[in-house]
Amino acid sequence: MVNLYSSFQLFSSESLILTSIVVGILLAGPLSAAEPVTIEHRIVEAIDARHDEAIELLAELVDINSGSLNLAGVRRVGERLDSELTELGLTTKWIEGASFERAGHLIARSEGRGPKVLLIGHLDTVFEPDSPFQSFERLDADHAKGPGAVDMKGGVVILLEVLRALAAASVLEDLQITVVLTGDEELSGRPLDLARGNLIAAGHEADIALGFEDGDGDPETAVVARRGSTNWSLEVRGIPAHSSQIFTEEVGAGAIYETARILEGFRRELADEEDLTFNPGVILGGTEVDFDHDQARGTGFGKDNVVAEFASVRGDLRATSLEQLVRAEAIMQRVTSESLPGTSAVLTIDHGYPPMGVTEGNSRLLAMYSQASEDLGFGPVTAVDPRRAGAADISFVANDVSMALDGLGLMGTGGHTVEETADLRTLSSQAKRAAVLLYRLSLAHASH
Ligand SMILES: [Zn+2]
Repeated sequence: MVNLYSSFQLFSSESLILTSIVVGILLAGPLSAAEPVTIEHRIVEAIDARHDEAIELLAELVDINSGSLNLAGVRRVGERLDSELTELGLTTKWIEGASFERAGHLIARSEGRGPKVLLIGHLDTVFEPDSPFQSFERLDADHAKGPGAVDMKGGVVILLEVLRALAAASVLEDLQITVVLTGDEELSGRPLDLARGNLIAAGHEADIALGFEDGDGDPETAVVARRGSTNWSLEVRGIPAHSSQIFTEEVGAGAIYETARILEGFRRELADEEDLTFNPGVILGGTEVDFDHDQARGTGFGKDNVVAEFASVRGDLRATSLEQLVRAEAIMQRVTSESLPGTSAVLTIDHGYPPMGVTEGNSRLLAMYSQASEDLGFGPVTAVDPRRAGAADISFVANDVSMALDGLGLMGTGGHTVEETADLRTLSSQAKRAAVLLYRLSLAHASH
């Protein structure tokens, strides 16, 4: 992995001009490439020049319904972006999603040298064709409402504008870019290892991953850590008997007391884990339990004077790192196994999105991004509180790359609601920050 930190220091604002002069002198003779400051100016100009076209493209993409289950709509968004990426000289490929019951994914690769960078976005939205929220509506010069305008067709447009600006400044070939636009981020297909196989494989090849989600909607923050999302279910059995026999040697505690013990054990042993949350969302118990796990609903029947035979609980578990997840699971399994007399319990943990842990690499990448932002006059960028950052596609690659950063997309409010509103001013500022970051990453790589 390249030492990016030393290169990042070269570009602190005071030394920016000096550095470019030094680089110019060192290169000597006719410069094969322009000085970094000049290139960064070209990047900024290219993004400014396309401001209106970028918003037009956003409006066009938002007007195509691409709810995760509207497979034709997701494909149409993919086709539209395919033509944009092809025009930029990238080689594109559509991954069919039939095996995981979704539309599929668009993958694009550039020919180049330099660091291997994975850019991540998604084509789908939470708004299916039956939603009342279907079209792009410009509210004023700086704001527009629309399904997926912020989450994350805006981010996808920024990703494209970044590539276009790097191409305009003739530095796109100094990066080995892979773009993965998934078609089922909001409602991912199953099994997950099939639905995310291509993304995970792209992560294995990449040095750096950038996600263009909207983060927490605040341009002063980006995401270095995301909590994962794991579901669990608990099935408890007891010995049915008249209530007068509870706690006897033959009958024991019954399924409901045992369930209460287990849940209280989770709370007692894990409540102090920093930023770990675990929540039992639904519970059913009694003599008969009919629980539909897919629908997360069911019915229970029991009598006051009968010791409960069955109990079912379903909940989630969100950790900030893989280590924390593994530790929490081990504790939950141990608590579950310490059965009261006459009971037994099985805890099943269904892994969903893995956590993206804070790493030194991620923090270093955020520092570079923040520096780029300051040099562009947009102020520093700090890390989002991981409690406010849910699971996202970057989580599938974050543990395999040296550095990962998310939340680089279009900012706004009301994501996943019919009030979803984009702050259009952040379209060019976010594109500039990410493009300058990528350019500096290519320089850092070249100097080693
Ligand atoms: Zn999203």
